[in-house]
Amino acid sequence: MSELRQNLITRDWVIIATDRAKRPDQFANPKQLVAGLPPHRPDCPFCVGNEEDGTLETFRLCDRTGWKVRAIRNKYPALSPTTERMRISSGIHRTMSGMGVHEVIVEHPRHDLTTALLSIEDVANILFVYRERYLEIRKYPHIETIIIFKNHGESAGTSLEHPHSQIAATPVVPSQVRNRIDEAVRYFDDTGDCLFCRTLEDELAAGERVIFESKHFVAFIPFAALSPFHIWIFPRRHSSSFDDITDPEITDLAYTLKTVLAKLYYGLNNPDYNYSIRSVPTTEQGTKYFHWYVAIIPRVSKQAGFELGSGMFINTALPEESAEFLRSIVIPTSKDLGEIES
Ligand SMILES: [Zn+2]
Ligand SMILES: [Zn+2]
Repeated sequence: MSELRQNLITRDWVIIATDRAKRPDQFANPKQLVAGLPPHRPDCPFCVGNEEDGTLETFRLCDRTGWKVRAIRNKYPALSPTTERMRISSGIHRTMSGMGVHEVIVEHPRHDLTTALLSIEDVANILFVYRERYLEIRKYPHIETIIIFKNHGESAGTSLEHPHSQIAATPVVPSQVRNRIDEAVRYFDDTGDCLFCRTLEDELAAGERVIFESKHFVAFIPFAALSPFHIWIFPRRHSSSFDDITDPEITDLAYTLKTVLAKLYYGLNNPDYNYSIRSVPTTEQGTKYFHWYVAIIPRVSKQAGFELGSGMFINTALPEESAEFLRSIVIPTSKDLGEIES
């Protein structure tokens, strides 16, 4: 029989469809593991040597050999920092000027790499630039929420091959973020504890959904995962906002993120995925009730009419089985991989 589970952080109900559950390896991507991309493409705007005139660049991390990671303003931004904030109410309709920030983080000079194949140092460079941009964007007027995210693969929303991620900052708190904060506040008022710290404690005690543990971070599949292989990475130290991350924690998160993404890469054959880094709204920083975290959603299943019509989810993978499967995936060493590792 199937089982309904409630995710206490999102408040969503999930039907864990045990009767229809697939084996973990049945979620593997049927396409080739290595897409055979060239290390450089003359027509790619993110490749070395093809950089635009520099007017869009907001940050560049370099070493002696050249740039390692770049932040650039999106050429076609969804939100723009130059627009003034203006709210207009007309009858029942409410509108607002499209002010905010929308930047692209070019993660590596090479065209053919992905986070799962990068060195820990390279991933740490990306996280370092995330923090630099977060700290800067937070100072912009009227910014309420900053979201860092990555779309990997076409079904995750990108057709651009070059490894990149994005930062968007909005002049409002999106309702999904607000709802989660309301739930976290309610839990804090009732118990005096952070719901996320408590969740982490319970997951570590149970152990069966934990995928990977490092000194400062824990990666696990939530008890009520909304979709197959839905993964959360929580910092062990309570902190409400990503920009509070320390240098040693950046290195450790790079290790954790790379390990988890490599387990997905080798275990599920390079699936498309999204990840996002969720923090409290900028005006509520330093709170005891919210805890920042990374959410990774592999695109191995599709939402359909039931999800859209109800807001409930059907998960055809057992979280405990998915976690056990990912724990068992051994990541080849750079020696085994030869020239693939950068
Ligand atoms: Zn490129
Ligand atoms: Zn906490």
